[in-house]
Amino acid sequence: MSILVYIRNVGGKIKKQSLELTSYAKAMSEKLDLPVVGLVIGEIDEAELQALGKYGMNKILVAGNAQYNKRVNRVYTRIAEQAVIESNAAYILFPDNNQGKAIAPRLSVRLKAGFVPQVMNLPESYDPFIVSKRAFTGKALASVQVKTERKIMTPMLNSFGLREAPVEISIELFSPQIEEPTSRLEIINKQTNTDGINLADADIVVSGGRGLKAAENFAMLEELAQSIDAATACSRPVADDGWRPADEHVGQTGKIIAPNIYIAIGISGAIQHVAGVSGSKCIVAINSDAEAPIFEVADYGLVGDAFKIVPELTTLFRQFMKDK
Ligand SMILES: Cc1cc2nc3c(=O)[nH]c(=O)nc-3n(C[C@H](O)[C@H](O)[C@H](O)COP(=O)(O)OP(=O)(O)OC[C@H]3O[C@@H](n4cnc5c(N)ncnc54)[C@H](O)[C@@H]3O)c2cc1C
Repeated sequence: MSILVYIRNVGGKIKKQSLELTSYAKAMSEKLDLPVVGLVIGEIDEAELQALGKYGMNKILVAGNAQYNKRVNRVYTRIAEQAVIESNAAYILFPDNNQGKAIAPRLSVRLKAGFVPQVMNLPESYDPFIVSKRAFTGKALASVQVKTERKIMTPMLNSFGLREAPVEISIELFSPQIEEPTSRLEIINKQTNTDGINLADADIVVSGGRGLKAAENFAMLEELAQSIDAATACSRPVADDGWRPADEHVGQTGKIIAPNIYIAIGISGAIQHVAGVSGSKCIVAINSDAEAPIFEVADYGLVGDAFKIVPELTTLFRQFMKDK
């Protein structure tokens, strides 16, 4: 038996979320005494794969055929199914992102395996197998018992963190038998935002709300973000008004993120907003209204005018990063 981890291949590179997922699997493997096996699909550099060994991965199956470079969920599900059989996996981990959300439920149907999305912590117990997941848009945790032999989970980003546990990793080519490798749908045009840091992968997120008054004032928020290598985000009305791109909107109806530090500037802290950021390790709020609800969830709060505080913070952060 083994623990199988789906490793997201981002144009031949591996991102932090996959390393964290490997750390999570390694922690499980210490309790279960099972090897950690990875699956990566599409062409990828061997040097990238070596990094997984640093976090405790024993073996990686590489379905590295170029025809798999483009993700087709149906095909990726079949490849994952064959990898489960090949590695005799009892526990299967996917990232809690678009890929995990697309593939894990399909795989759970094919394998008749119990599936727990939005997992927040390491399993509470292994026999019976109980794990806690986000519930009610982050306002509660639900403990779920998985009764099937095979168990599929999508741990959330930052739910565990990175832990180094170096082992020798063996890299094996994996050639799944796929009858119909073509897609029924094809993306014919993709507009990607190449500026800045990807919101989903960011350690630090600087987020702005209606308190910033106008689109042009987000320039100071971008400067603050750049000073500490942070990604930018916003509240829903800000995206609705076109002050920021729609893909920056976080909350119940936007992205759910869990960075190490979330800095909310001019954001009131409505429940629908907090639902998307409550998993953050540390929330910092800057708001001119001391009674704003964001201070109820913030670990640190600054009461004051963002237009005064943000430029001062940017100067301080720049100096700090220079001295570091
Ligand atoms: C079904 C539903 C789903 C929703 N989903 C989402 C969602 O996913 N994400 C989301 O964000 N919202 C969502 N909303 C909207 C949500 O209810 C709030 O209306 C929204 O989050 C408020 O955005 P805001 O905090 O930017 O603006 P406001 O509520 O207008 O708050 C602005 C804040 O800025 C502060 N401020 C003003 N001037 C300054 C200054 N100079 N310096 C510092 N602070 C200042 C004010 O004190 C205030 O607290 C949803 C609503 C519904 C009904």
